[in-house]
Amino acid sequence: MKTHAQAVVIGGGVIGCSILYHLTKLGWSDVVLLERNELTSGSTWHAAANIHGLHDSANISRLQHYTMSLYKQLEEETGQSCGVFQPGSLYLAQTEAREHQLRLQEAKAQLYGMNFSEISRERAEELHPLVNFDGIRCIMWEPEGGNVDPSGVTNAYAMGARQRGAEIHRFTPVTATTQKPDGTWVVETPKGNIETRWVINAAGLWGREVAKLAGIEMPLQPTEHQYFVTETIAEIDGMDRRLPSVADRDGEYYLRQEGKGLLIGAYERDMRFWAEDGTPLDFAHDLFPDDLERIMENVMRAMDRVPVAAEAGIKRVINGPMIWSPDSNVILGPVPELKNYFMCGGIIPGFSQSAGMGLMAAQWIVEGEMQYDMFAWDLARFGQWANDHDFVKAKVEDVYAHRFAIHYPNEEREAGRPLRTRPVYGMQKEMGAVFGLNYGWEHPQWFADEPGRKDTNGFTRQNWWGPVGEECRMLRERAGIIDISNFAKYRVKGPGAEDWLNAVFANIMPKSVGRSCLTPLISVRGGIAGDATVTRVAEDEFWVVSSGMAERYHKRFFDMVPLPEGTSFDSWTERMCGFNVAGPKSRELLARLTNASLDTGDFPFMRSQRIELAGVDCLALRVSFTGDLGWELHCATEDQAQLYAALLEAGKPLGAGPVGARALMSMRVEKGYGSWSREYSPEYWPHEVGLAGLCKMGKDFLHKAALEEVLEKTPREDLVLIHIDEAAVTASNADATGGEPIFCKGKPVGRVTSGTYGYSVGMSLALGYVRHGAAAPGDEVSVMVLGQPHKARILHEPPFDPEGEKLRA
Ligand SMILES: Cc1cc2nc3c(=O)[nH]c(=O)nc-3n(C[C@H](O)[C@H](O)[C@H](O)COP(=O)(O)OP(=O)(O)OC[C@H]3O[C@@H](n4cnc5c(N)ncnc54)[C@H](O)[C@@H]3O)c2cc1C
Repeated sequence: MKTHAQAVVIGGGVIGCSILYHLTKLGWSDVVLLERNELTSGSTWHAAANIHGLHDSANISRLQHYTMSLYKQLEEETGQSCGVFQPGSLYLAQTEAREHQLRLQEAKAQLYGMNFSEISRERAEELHPLVNFDGIRCIMWEPEGGNVDPSGVTNAYAMGARQRGAEIHRFTPVTATTQKPDGTWVVETPKGNIETRWVINAAGLWGREVAKLAGIEMPLQPTEHQYFVTETIAEIDGMDRRLPSVADRDGEYYLRQEGKGLLIGAYERDMRFWAEDGTPLDFAHDLFPDDLERIMENVMRAMDRVPVAAEAGIKRVINGPMIWSPDSNVILGPVPELKNYFMCGGIIPGFSQSAGMGLMAAQWIVEGEMQYDMFAWDLARFGQWANDHDFVKAKVEDVYAHRFAIHYPNEEREAGRPLRTRPVYGMQKEMGAVFGLNYGWEHPQWFADEPGRKDTNGFTRQNWWGPVGEECRMLRERAGIIDISNFAKYRVKGPGAEDWLNAVFANIMPKSVGRSCLTPLISVRGGIAGDATVTRVAEDEFWVVSSGMAERYHKRFFDMVPLPEGTSFDSWTERMCGFNVAGPKSRELLARLTNASLDTGDFPFMRSQRIELAGVDCLALRVSFTGDLGWELHCATEDQAQLYAALLEAGKPLGAGPVGARALMSMRVEKGYGSWSREYSPEYWPHEVGLAGLCKMGKDFLHKAALEEVLEKTPREDLVLIHIDEAAVTASNADATGGEPIFCKGKPVGRVTSGTYGYSVGMSLALGYVRHGAAAPGDEVSVMVLGQPHKARILHEPPFDPEGEKLRA
């Protein structure tokens, strides 16, 4: 075994082998994979290994598509069979909501060049004569759907990696990972140690245990999962072709041909956790005792749909472990608190995603960043708060039991909550707040007319649509108080604060105390890694406000620039809270609580002051994401309740009150403002999102060279604001929500990133990207709301206050 390597992958399941393969494909041949047993000895060997291309997330769909297309190539490249069967998949909708979901996916498939389209019942019966299609509202057909051989795929990746120089050592358990002061890692095994730059934890079921070797926790929890295979079924035996798989998600089971019988599996409501206190080290090619009773309800539904299954005997039952994250997406990426430690664990659809995941991991390690915005996979979407054992268990139980449920736009699942609350949580609850989970915090989405109300869910307008409109109108006509404690807040202090911020961010930091600037943060490939408002609050002190959910993600970037001696950078997100008081009467509201002059002459737009409001010391910034006259007020967390009570009291006579996050979303879209993770992401270039003017190329800053390179290129896409025809949205009772394809002259040209109703302008609106040159302001386009064409037009300017007069009033 070699003693030095560029990277060591721990774990020889399908994911570890795919990462190893993709590292070699990107040119790293000096890489090693260590497996404690045979390859595939975790979840991999016993998987049903179904493969699907379409996912609600466009980028995950792209990567699943890549994965499905790689298997055949891998076979050719290595000579190792991957056991690929692609007889196609039939997707069935039993409900209106499922039909909306499938039609939306059909529209997305056109945009991304994938095969997924509606077929008639007659055609479906030809494709799968054993299915009873009664009660099915629509049927979609994915010709590439199917399944693979889990061991074949894993070994093909291994072989492909070996062909490019990688080493694989089986029966070589990693027993310790320690980092030396120079940042290199020592990976210990009974067969000797390897020194390496990168450690990659792909230990699957043992991901938690391997993470602990490096002193870190991972929010992961294994469960049992079952499927069974029937004896030969005569009707299948008599066929000269393989049957398509059946994705009847409303029935909550999966079903496909296996041999000459059927394979049926289910994610049951009465699920079972496994190995809560740690995965046993002696577990390998093992299974649990069968417990088919637990999945019987689901299986009965499968038998109703495919009646021959009811007649067949059971040949084999698999009850094996799989390991889950709190939202069922992979925990992927470099751990921000460690140097060069990469995690990739908690993967459920490993065979649909293995290649995409291996490619993303390898790009991140070798090239410093992935080509796509994969925040949905990035482990930084969870903070340390997510390691709470009860929270993880509650979430995993929920995501397991609802594996095939539709996840609606704006859906907020309740399991495991509340986890993190701020002092005004109780007050907000009393006022009817309906909360969402925001980086672990309970955050008001909207205010119902009585406490205890909950969201209804669907693709169409839901119970919150009307009340959110009231909140918007209240703010636009009078004033509103928005809790913005969910923003991330940082304090940078010391003699080197200005230099450090200038070295991190692309804009020039404010020169005088009390001034603020908006600034992009540039990613490794020259895209938008973030946007922030930076305020100079003292000669040597700056206040940075940015996206709350990106706090751990941004830490990776902040850590790339060393802090000067004597200068500190601290997150104040927990110790400070905030409110945005906005609307034409916001000045009058605040004037009731402070002696400070809020007149424009004394307190202009983009300035800040320390003021006392109702006896509470606040940092007041004259900015507002609503696009209206307004102030952001930041106070100590212990003063939050006092300030909130005073603001609400002062607002009452003016007809002002609390406003939630969904109203803020609507108002910022009326103004055409982008938001991180929707319009702003590392995938987009500053000149595609209208932020190039904020990048000051006359100074040095993080990833400036990458930005210079992209600025030379023509934008690939343009961010546009779209007005969707009123009659169309009234007929479908739905607005865009994000992800809907945009068509122009019958051709797919882009997709929506944020969609909402603009209540104060009376327009259904969508922000989105269209291919550069394919459509321009004034052009008629079609937005696929609910997967159906909705007439729309690209706007020349935002419909609310295009001149910014209200903002500066
Ligand atoms: C019953 C069942 C059915 C499934 N069906 C499907 C399906 O239809 N489609 C699909 O896409 N997915 C399916 N899956 C999920 C799929 O199996 C997983 O997504 C995938 O196998 C995860 O692979 P992995 O490489 O991350 O982890 P694992 O397969 O768990 O591999 C981890 C490897 O790391 C090794 N290891 C651990 N600790 C150490 C150490 N200290 N040193 C060295 N090596 C170590 C282990 O021995 C193991 O080989 C199914 C899972 C189950 C349980």
